[in-house]
Amino acid sequence: MLTTHVAGAARHDGILRPRRFQVFTDRHFDQIERLKSLDPEHRFAMQVVASVLPFRVNQYVIDELIDWSRVPEDPIFQLTFPQRGMLSDADFERMADLHRRGASRDEIQTLANEIRVRLNPHPAGQMDLNTPTDEGCPLEGLQHKYRETVLFFPAQGQTCHSYCSFCFRWAQFVGDKTLKIATNEAGMLHRYLRQHRQVTDLLVTGGDPMVMKARHLSSYLTPLLNADLEHIQTVRIGTKSLSFWPYRFVTDEDADEMLGLFERLIEGGKHVAIMAHYNHPRELSTEVAHEAIRRLRDVGVEIRSQGPLLGHINDDPRVWSDLWTAQVRQGIIPYYMFVERDTGAQHYFGVPLARAWEIYRQAMQRVSGLGRTARGPSMSAGPGKVEIQGITEIQGEKVFVLRFIQGRDADWVQRPFFARYDPEATWLDQLKPAFGEESFFFDKEYAAMQQGLVRAIQ
Ligand SMILES: *Cc1c(COP(=O)(O)O)cnc(C)c1O
Repeated sequence: MLTTHVAGAARHDGILRPRRFQVFTDRHFDQIERLKSLDPEHRFAMQVVASVLPFRVNQYVIDELIDWSRVPEDPIFQLTFPQRGMLSDADFERMADLHRRGASRDEIQTLANEIRVRLNPHPAGQMDLNTPTDEGCPLEGLQHKYRETVLFFPAQGQTCHSYCSFCFRWAQFVGDKTLKIATNEAGMLHRYLRQHRQVTDLLVTGGDPMVMKARHLSSYLTPLLNADLEHIQTVRIGTKSLSFWPYRFVTDEDADEMLGLFERLIEGGKHVAIMAHYNHPRELSTEVAHEAIRRLRDVGVEIRSQGPLLGHINDDPRVWSDLWTAQVRQGIIPYYMFVERDTGAQHYFGVPLARAWEIYRQAMQRVSGLGRTARGPSMSAGPGKVEIQGITEIQGEKVFVLRFIQGRDADWVQRPFFARYDPEATWLDQLKPAFGEESFFFDKEYAAMQQGLVRAIQ
């Protein structure tokens, strides 16, 4: 019952006072008090990088998560503030020149756009995955890549409480922010789900759907309780709010209304899962973060965690074992360790696949079985989610052992396959088949899918 949670919040009132959400973007560097202790050259570099890559940070992250005595190496500072190394030297110098000579906004925008298109802004067919409707036109805000799960990007959820400096969806946060609000978006979603009865999971993502008001989210989710949408068993919500703004579930105006929505879905027979994005154990350390997790679990929400392995932030087995340990302790189920995608500042954050596997393996060895539910390292690539299962030698050839966790064709899932070992490779498209073979087992079918000759999802 929700009343118990209201009482719970009251009990904590003395400690957890509501906090006003206060956010800074690249236009507000001068207003961030903490930055005044950095040298001017460093501040200038951040401004230059932020004219290309999106930047947004809130006061909670600044005050409670960043350890300013360790800046610039501090992992949460690296996670949220732009760093010079995120641009190539050549791009950085060109953009810095424009800033030094006080170039116009237009000039800066033009160069920024030129740099952005070279940073692979739409990895793994992010743009062409919109699912065809019966009329043959793409559905805005909906992605149906794997048979049982539909991804939905609500129009009101296209920002975040803070941005991650490595975000693979960075391109949607730069430039023209005019939101394309589809008319009767909720109706479109429900109609699609009614017509696809093999779908069991709805995954609401963004941006961050938790920036939405509870009543907006309710208009998408409450109709799932109707008999004609009974096949939707699981509602997942992808969010970084438990890290960047846990007040969302504790003291925000409609925090109780949000928990009430989740509770009604659960009472109606749905499984509600928060897919929480975490990168570092410090995100789980504050009192308000604990309280947010406790309140969600109290209404029956399951919290699963996922996040990428990143240079400068968490490329250390101990950080991952600490992260999983802290999660298990608070009742969160470790779910995925991702490989950073081939986009944006990947050259800055990327970790070679061989090293990623070594970090995963060592981290696994440090935790009990309850922490070993995290699968990975996993690449969300065009053909599917591919996991590096290991590195070994077969008949004298050193190889990566790989498998599909998810595949465009469900028949690919769980099939082991092998790639020639390459210590430098950072992404699937750099891997070559092992044993002198010409192609991977899925290459031909995937190519046909891309040409529209085969439809993956019936
Ligand atoms: C990861 C992912 C899903 C969900 O896959 P699970 O393995 O069920 O977590 C669904 N759609 C897309 C596009 C994904 O990348």
